[in-house]
Amino acid sequence: MTSPVRVRFAPSPTGKLHIGGARTAIYNWAFARSCGGAFILRIDDTDPARSTEENTQVILRAMRWLGLDWDEGPEVGGDFGPYSQTERLDIYREAAERLLAEGKAYPCFCTPEQLAADREAAAARKDPFQGYQRRCRDIPADEARSRMEAGEPYTLRIKVPEDRGNVVINDAVHGKVTFDAKELDDFVIFRSDGTPTYNFATVVDDAAMGITHVIRGDDHLSNTPRQVMVYEALGAPVPTFAHISMILGADGKKLSKRHGATSVEEYRDAGYLSDAFVNYLALLGWSLDGETTVIPRDVLASQFSLERISKNPATFDPKKLDWMNAEYINAMSDADFADQIMLPELLRAGLIDEGFEADEAWVDALAAIVRPRTKMPADAAVVATPVFKTAETLEYDEKSVAKGLAKEGMGAVLDAARTALEDVTDWTAENIDAALEPLPEVLDVKKRLVFGAVRVAVCGNMVSPPLGETMALIGRDDCLARIDRARPMAG
Ligand code: GLU
Repeated sequence: MTSPVRVRFAPSPTGKLHIGGARTAIYNWAFARSCGGAFILRIDDTDPARSTEENTQVILRAMRWLGLDWDEGPEVGGDFGPYSQTERLDIYREAAERLLAEGKAYPCFCTPEQLAADREAAAARKDPFQGYQRRCRDIPADEARSRMEAGEPYTLRIKVPEDRGNVVINDAVHGKVTFDAKELDDFVIFRSDGTPTYNFATVVDDAAMGITHVIRGDDHLSNTPRQVMVYEALGAPVPTFAHISMILGADGKKLSKRHGATSVEEYRDAGYLSDAFVNYLALLGWSLDGETTVIPRDVLASQFSLERISKNPATFDPKKLDWMNAEYINAMSDADFADQIMLPELLRAGLIDEGFEADEAWVDALAAIVRPRTKMPADAAVVATPVFKTAETLEYDEKSVAKGLAKEGMGAVLDAARTALEDVTDWTAENIDAALEPLPEVLDVKKRLVFGAVRVAVCGNMVSPPLGETMALIGRDDCLARIDRARPMAG
């Protein structure tokens, strides 16, 4: 019988949650969800100098925004807590003491100077092994004990078994990866200040928490043989590892600040939709079938598989993220778009106030023309601006006036348009369009020019949404007043 899947995301709160970490979190979450397993969030805060509570809060907030709910961890608890490493020091101490008692770890009394001298000597004689020279490995147990009790500073090192041979990892992404145990240091598991090292604390936790799959960045691949040594010393089963590739910027270099925004919350603040953002990040190194790009969260959560993670580094392309965001916006219903994006953006832009009330059909009609023109939420307010202005407050874009209105003959176009529009009694988009439709022929002016002139007169620019719909939303009297106001600018 195989045990139920348990995975963890274990960020160090030494900074914000970045794109790479978010993708690792998404893969862990999606993998847990796809096999009915548990997704655990653990805060790896054993680096007290660089970890802050504030960063932890930022990470939790970003996780919530991403919609990556965790089954165990901070704020939700669980049977394997506590879920912050600083609260688990006793657990690490006990584990280390057990290894010490069993002779699987030993105290090392070497001073930093001694270690440095050994390293230099190894380098000088071109020794292929430049790690710890195992000076303290064979100190008899009782001698070691009395030196420890006498207060001599020491670290604890793991005893890599002499005859261990190769450490073979069957990585779910990279396949078989072989490391020679001879190249492994008897590495430190506890520092002389009484704090555990990452390779030790992580394994003690992963073992205690029953983690079955470790999905993380491949910058940790080189740590893995050391971690396997700790599992073996603890007598704990070794989980399946899946090391995911780096994310690169467009220039082929590791993604960093130089490439623009890297933290999740910067994307939230820039107006990206969480669903689109998660979808895009999920595709950085994983694919559903090699071609589908729009993969809703529920599909990701049911279809994610380790088999489809790619070995190759993925490239972060902000343009593709923008495209994805626009896809998600476009796929929303008018009502959802209005509630979740348009109205909040109109409020933010000061085009409406908190007390704004409008007929639902009117709002939906506005949403229907604004939505296809909204790639980022903030676009919604720009596109909708002419509708919320009046004949008095509308601003005319100079270039649009010069191009669309000031040309010769456009005054006559506006006069004819006004006359035609005056006769429209039932002010609907269809009737407005029908009234304007005959003008190009009657006036013998190109259709593009006729509609362009009316558009600039009514909307102040050349790029507004479809004219009939927009004018219907603005209302008859104000449209006519706008034409009157624009008339002197027309050629
Ligand atoms: N705290 C480690 C990191 O953020 C976790 C690595 C791991 O998943 O083992 O890199």
